[in-house]
Amino acid sequence: MAAKNLIPSKRTLAAQAMGKIDPLTKAVVPPIHVATTYIRDEDNAYSTGFVYGRPDNETIHEAQAVLAMLEEAKAGALLFGSGMAAATAVFQALSPGDHVVASKVMYWALRAWLLTEATRWGLKVEFVETDNLAALKAAVRPGETKLVWIETPSNPLWTITDIAAAAEIAHKAGAKLAVDSTCASPVHTRPLTLGADIVMHAATKVLNGHSDVVAGALCAREDDAFWNRVKTVRKGQGGILGPFEAFLLMRGMRTLHLRQERQSASAMALAERLSAHPLVARVLYPGLPQHPGHDIAARQMEGGFGFMLSIQLVGGEAAAVKTAAHVEIYKRATSLGGVESLIEHRASIEGAGSPCPPDLLRLSTGIEDLDDLHADLDQALKTGHR
Ligand SMILES: *Cc1c(COP(=O)(O)O)cnc(C)c1O
Repeated sequence: MAAKNLIPSKRTLAAQAMGKIDPLTKAVVPPIHVATTYIRDEDNAYSTGFVYGRPDNETIHEAQAVLAMLEEAKAGALLFGSGMAAATAVFQALSPGDHVVASKVMYWALRAWLLTEATRWGLKVEFVETDNLAALKAAVRPGETKLVWIETPSNPLWTITDIAAAAEIAHKAGAKLAVDSTCASPVHTRPLTLGADIVMHAATKVLNGHSDVVAGALCAREDDAFWNRVKTVRKGQGGILGPFEAFLLMRGMRTLHLRQERQSASAMALAERLSAHPLVARVLYPGLPQHPGHDIAARQMEGGFGFMLSIQLVGGEAAAVKTAAHVEIYKRATSLGGVESLIEHRASIEGAGSPCPPDLLRLSTGIEDLDDLHADLDQALKTGHR
């Protein structure tokens, strides 16, 4: 399989999807395992460990191995049918009455799920600004809080939560720390090495990177009782990803480093250029020194600050909607992390209760030519202001 004497880097291991070669044909791309069921041995055992397609699949194992390597997840990774399926499995592994503290600024659909569905399950969910460690400390109830859920950088304001400090606060209270690290990706941040217990990814986004797979993932530091509860939830509720999607995701992860580096470098350059644009009131990007989370981001992110940024426009909401209407290269669409750049007026998606200001446009930076992206935003901003 892997090198005999060398210890390859994550980039090398990801590029070769762990170096796995098909033993039958020596193909450098392993086949997709589509079988839903497996032959029993004559003594009725299942010596390969594979029994049925809902709990397990070899293609899923292969993709999980790549992600576990990238996240340095000692207890491994689990793939789900979507980011939401992965995230909600963590909450469903808790027990009725458990107290949960979550970031106020987070992926809107998960916030909505926590407010409606999770409370019906008997979870007590409290939202705080987790970038404010004093507020987080005050919200956590020793012995009662079982989970702290943070997202960093968090949608769509790109606030930064100090992962190591949040882990300490959670652990002191006897709670686990879970991190939605979708927008950092394992290229820039590895939360498990900073003390987090669980990392969640909407693998739909930059991990796959081509806007053609819906998938989610969880990675864990310790193979403990809670992680086993999560495994039981995936198996019982049938939340596993399909093998075709797992194959596409693995193909996407082979180029993760290349894409991520280019996307983050372009996002940084755009953030700098847009900061000087007369029609942009404010640029939200953790790579900018004036961003309130910049110092923490500089500590816990390496090799860049991610591909996501938001801008607030001088002309307010009307200018924001009109600017998005006039892009020629950016795609006016939801989602993020793909090779194509996307622009979105978030407030009209997120609805009531969202902390997203109405004059904000969210930008997902792809791999296109930087000058093209900049020229497109410049002309759209000018049209949007007229
Ligand atoms: C998209 C997204 C999710 C949800 O993932 P799905 O695959 O759409 O279910 C969760 N968190 C973040 C930060 C996201 O961007």
